[in-house]
Amino acid sequence: MSCVFCRIVAREIPASILYEDDHVVGFRDVNPVAPVHILVVPKVHVPRVDAPEVCELKLGDHIFRAIGDITRREGLQEGGFRVVSNAGKGGGQTVDHLHFHILAGRSLAWPPG
Ligand code: 5GP
Ligand code: ZN
Repeated sequence: MSCVFCRIVAREIPASILYEDDHVVGFRDVNPVAPVHILVVPKVHVPRVDAPEVCELKLGDHIFRAIGDITRREGLQEGGFRVVSNAGKGGGQTVDHLHFHILAGRSLAWPPG
């Protein structure tokens, strides 16, 4: 299995995992771009946010439940946070396994670069 996030889900490579349920895993980004930088991924390999399986498997429900849980647990709700899913080369996607970034802990500029 070559996908790095599939390997993290399978515990084949280490990660700082802070959330897991039947469908989703959340872990800290190895190269954080903010004081809090967490990745939320489905356990199933789906390439990106616009893939048909996202709706077919109701992954949005599972992922957004996890994001709510993680942001509550990490105390991010009062200060605010950003959720981003990059898609494709132009969108800045570098890992082809659906993931949502949770960013927090500093002032986040808008529009993003
Ligand atoms: P993308 O650029 O696809 O939106 O985001 C991929 C993210 O995955 C990047 O922020 C990158 O730092 C992170 N990443 C890549 N490989 C690993 C890894 O092996 N472990 C962890 N924890 N994060 C990774
Ligand atoms: Zn994968």
